[in-house]
Amino acid sequence: MNCSLVATQSMLIACSVTNRLKEAWTGGAAMVSLGHAVVGQVDADRKETRMLIAIDFDDCLTLDAALWRDFIDAARAGDHECICVTARRYTDENIEIVDTWMRTHGISLPVYFTSLWSKVDYMERIGRKVDVWIDDNPRACALGH
Ligand SMILES: [Mg+2]
Repeated sequence: MNCSLVATQSMLIACSVTNRLKEAWTGGAAMVSLGHAVVGQVDADRKETRMLIAIDFDDCLTLDAALWRDFIDAARAGDHECICVTARRYTDENIEIVDTWMRTHGISLPVYFTSLWSKVDYMERIGRKVDVWIDDNPRACALGH
């Protein structure tokens, strides 16, 4: 099984789910049904606005750089904005690790370090409305570590 397939199977791609994502995890809803409900809203015919797409770093971007580089290029071609949101602590060491990895793999993204906080809460607090979350750990994305 290649990395692309692993990534596709294990990730929740959620759109406009800030509250629904939390409800799903606090209410015990199945990830699959959340994924279907949410992904069902991604309709190319309904594309009306620019999306802010947040991509996780560890075990997401790092699983398949080529996949995400192509995804980011396609998203940008569609006038969407991509960022990286990681729960890593904001330390010099982590900044260096992420920066080195991105430079090595030809990926350039603004990076937000939430220092183990809920990514959803963090981005809300700084006033950035994320439309799409791509994360291998949706529970931690919503609730923090
Ligand atoms: Mg991760």
